[in-house]
Amino acid sequence: MPSAGCGGAGSSSSIPPEPSPCGGTALKPLFLAAAHWRRQGLLGDIDLHLVTPYAGVLDIPFVEDTLQAELDRNGVTVHRRSTVTSVSHDSCAVTLSGDGGDTTIQDVEHAFIVPAYRAPRWLAPLAGDHPAGLVDVDPSTLAHRRHPSLWSLGDVADLRTRPSGGALRRQVEVLAANISLARRRRQPRRYDGYTVIPITTDRHRLMLIEFDRQLQPQPTVSWTDLTRPRADLWFFDRYVEPIIYFHALLDGRV
Ligand SMILES: Cc1cc2nc3c(=O)[nH]c(=O)nc-3n(C[C@H](O)[C@H](O)[C@H](O)COP(=O)(O)OP(=O)(O)OC[C@H]3O[C@@H](n4cnc5c(N)ncnc54)[C@H](O)[C@@H]3O)c2cc1C
Repeated sequence: MPSAGCGGAGSSSSIPPEPSPCGGTALKPLFLAAAHWRRQGLLGDIDLHLVTPYAGVLDIPFVEDTLQAELDRNGVTVHRRSTVTSVSHDSCAVTLSGDGGDTTIQDVEHAFIVPAYRAPRWLAPLAGDHPAGLVDVDPSTLAHRRHPSLWSLGDVADLRTRPSGGALRRQVEVLAANISLARRRRQPRRYDGYTVIPITTDRHRLMLIEFDRQLQPQPTVSWTDLTRPRADLWFFDRYVEPIIYFHALLDGRV
């Protein structure tokens, strides 16, 4: 949200509270802006803030040190267990609510604020008691709890994991198998909550965090560590992934 000219040198980014789709990717604009300002020689003059609802950065234990090191490298002040409660365009201020009460960040020239997610209201008849109105499915089988012949996946489904497009890859497999297995009255397959958060940590470096519902690592490849920010992964994401996406994934071939 660029302001009309606050005259300050503050920048604020927020990670949305769960169940935000791929909430951790909100770190990407923060790191890319920092990389740009570093190249311009301005980074030291800019006050960077990150607002996160977690006690750590994303509360994914096996990548917390890496993420914190990237934030330290860019001099980012982290407001933990906090959410943005108001943004004032006129006074260039962002107000947060957290464990210690309300805090206001002043002189914010640029803010990247991600709103909280909720499912479309027309899905309300299928929702359970989730405050975001998510469809009430068994998170393992993806079958609706009250109407077992209904199935749900993706951001709207209450799958007790962090939603992402990458997670859909596994969910689709399980759901398609389970529809067929249910017709034959066979035991369903189980979705372990696999999900993925890709984070661009610098102009040409990317890390990929893959994990399950227990926040345990679930790497797709075992021969290298994709949670370490890397240039080859950035190159793959930038130049190869779009080809796979448009020429194979959308055709249903992967
Ligand atoms: C900023 C951001 C960055 C992200 N980055 C990544 C990433 O790098 N990697 C990753 O894996 N995931 C990422 N995600 C998450 C990913 O985009 C979602 O998890 C994924 O798109 C969910 O797919 P979906 O089909 O469940 O929902 P959606 O993609 O939201 O699709 C639902 C569709 O239903 C349509 N719809 C809604 N109501 C109606 C209606 N009444 N009639 C007809 N159509 C309707 C909507 O218009 C929409 O097109 C990101 C999300 C955000 C917000």
